[in-house]
Amino acid sequence: MGWEFQLPTKIIFGRGSLSRVWENVDRKKVLFVTGKSRFREEPLGRIKKQLSNAQVSVYDNVEPNPTHQNVDGGVEVIEKEGCELVIALGGGSVIDAAKLMASIAVNKGKAYDYAFQKKRIEKKGLPLIAIPTTAGTGSEVTPFAVISDKEKKLKAPIRNRQLFPKVAVVDPELTASMPAELTANTGVDALAHALEALWSKKAQPITDYLALRAAKLIFDNLKKACQEPENMDAREEMSLASLLGGMAISNAWTCAAHAISYPLTINFGVAHGNACSLTLPEVMEFNALRSEKINRITQLYGPEKMRELFKEIGLKTRLSEFGIKKDDIPLIADGVVASTLETNLVEMKKEDIITMLEKIL
Ligand code: NDP
Ligand code: MN
Repeated sequence: MGWEFQLPTKIIFGRGSLSRVWENVDRKKVLFVTGKSRFREEPLGRIKKQLSNAQVSVYDNVEPNPTHQNVDGGVEVIEKEGCELVIALGGGSVIDAAKLMASIAVNKGKAYDYAFQKKRIEKKGLPLIAIPTTAGTGSEVTPFAVISDKEKKLKAPIRNRQLFPKVAVVDPELTASMPAELTANTGVDALAHALEALWSKKAQPITDYLALRAAKLIFDNLKKACQEPENMDAREEMSLASLLGGMAISNAWTCAAHAISYPLTINFGVAHGNACSLTLPEVMEFNALRSEKINRITQLYGPEKMRELFKEIGLKTRLSEFGIKKDDIPLIADGVVASTLETNLVEMKKEDIITMLEKIL
């Protein structure tokens, strides 16, 4: 069987790599995309200092699980200020929103139409430098942007190769300010990427290799990163795991656990990583029973080992812990994103999902 692998993003990795942002800025008018949390002040100041010759605008109106309105607001600033390059400093939410802003600035229109109305991104957007401050999404190297509509309770990924950032600057020091709960939540997102890349229909030798390496790094380092927030070796390994997981899904995509996570987040406020980890062991068991390849992987990182890790890092593992009741299960099953579920190597029907959700109630 043949395969292809595409990843056009230049990656700069390492502690202190934030000091190298300027090397990649070749335009005069720059938009910084961020959220509102205070942890960012110091790194943002450090980047601004490097760009003393540029005209810098800041858009800080990106919320966790970014909305199409957040994106449209950023596009307005780009148009008003004539920005030529976008720099995203934040978690997956900020990076995803910035990806779509940079694209829409060139392709025009409203974010809602790209996210929920099948409008396609045709042209390459403005260049984007993505600087992750969490270790989990890998969004700095993926061609995806996950956008929400909080009124209509919709959350879904846009997938388009034009969304690859131009440059990813991954500085593990930026993740040191994450509290334990955020470290846990984002860390298991990276684990979900690694495992889902393995059980994707689009899996191939390169993504398998990246995914296996990422999974090992997470099992070896996530607990340490949660319990010893100052442990920079563990932080660095988690940033690497997140990057490798992102590289794996950039071409293999995600599957059932992600497809089910979106309605859990948008309807019940479950953080993205935890929303994926809730069903991850169940999806693994379901897939392993039906696929020899996945069965082999479970011998390395079986569902029990995973459940144990989730407990140790303080994650919630049952739906009822989020106030979700049996009556809510049909709503979750209806919100599962079909185009993401479709990549699952083993076919999963709505009844299978309902059975799975009832098991973890
Ligand atoms: P978020 O970006 O949503 O950040 C969660 C919160 O943590 C925010 O309040 C944020 O602040 C804060 N925060 C971020 N970094 C730090 C830090 N270093 N120290 C202290 N606080 C910090 O979290 P994730 O990174 O988990 O991103 C989740 C989103 O990414 C979801 O929408 C998910 O669907 C998406 N995603 C995208 C993927 C892709 O390939 N594109 C893959 C997987 C997930 P602030 O509010 O100021 O930003
Ligand atoms: Mn994810």
